Amino acid sequence: MSKQVYVAGKLVPAEQAVVSVFDHGLLYGDGVFEGIRVYGGKVFLLQEHIDRLFESALAIRLELPISNPEMVTAVKDTVRANEISDGYVRLVVTRGAGSLGLDIRRTANPQVIIIADTISLYPDELYRTGMKLVTASTIRNHPGALSPRIKSLNYLNNILAKIEGTDAGTVEALMLNHNGEVAECTGDNIFIVKRGVLRTPQPDAGILEGITRNAVMKLSREAGVPVVECVMTRHDIYTADECFLTGTAAEVIAVTSLDGRQIGEGVPGPITKQLLELFRRLTHGG
Ligand code: PMP
Repeated sequence: MSKQVYVAGKLVPAEQAVVSVFDHGLLYGDGVFEGIRVYGGKVFLLQEHIDRLFESALAIRLELPISNPEMVTAVKDTVRANEISDGYVRLVVTRGAGSLGLDIRRTANPQVIIIADTISLYPDELYRTGMKLVTASTIRNHPGALSPRIKSLNYLNNILAKIEGTDAGTVEALMLNHNGEVAECTGDNIFIVKRGVLRTPQPDAGILEGITRNAVMKLSREAGVPVVECVMTRHDIYTADECFLTGTAAEVIAVTSLDGRQIGEGVPGPITKQLLELFRRLTHGG
């Protein structure tokens, strides 16, 4: 079966899925996107992702060519057409083709592109041992320049930080905000556990408000572990009992050191392990 991609309102074979070289998504990174998981043939937290996509689009004044319920249906249809049981959906909306120049009034036909594929995950080993992190010197976008709450096609900010992590031999990198406070990692949100309380930066700290983050916060509260959204500095992470990241691809993964400082016992902590277990039960419909 050939791969089917949703583009221009219909499913077409992948080789025929094309957009214009004049699309402002390509020329200027002008557009928004989502990454969504499929577990057991079911699209996980689909409505939450579609809602965030519409909020990102609203923030950049991009009018989507199809409605919220139509987008939900289009994603489900694409997953079904590709017979994806466990995989990943990339949903992209571009500004559409236009003349050269930044003026959005000279563009037409925003493109909705939906790709359903398999997913490459962190190795299992990393979930057992936890990962090391370094702090990138590249800070997260200033919210007054481009709000990190918008999941836009402009990912260079995070890519530059990720390069620093790769150079240092880590798979993720911590990003601070313009105040020098902890924001998030290049593609994941960050949490610490201190004296039995979960702490994570608040949405206006210059982060993407992760769907996984919100799901894990809910699971934590239900399990009787309080959650506080607060300003965090690197000192809080260095001196935490536990630390972990959340994200659509990463799920819940422990962090065992930051900038060469061991966190807690230097192994995935009990609350991190409990939340990963609860999260996996949720994704597998338990
Ligand atoms: N922060 C950033 C910058 C991201 O790109 C992502 C998504 N990969 C996340 C956090 C995690 O968000 P979610 O749980 O919605 O995948």
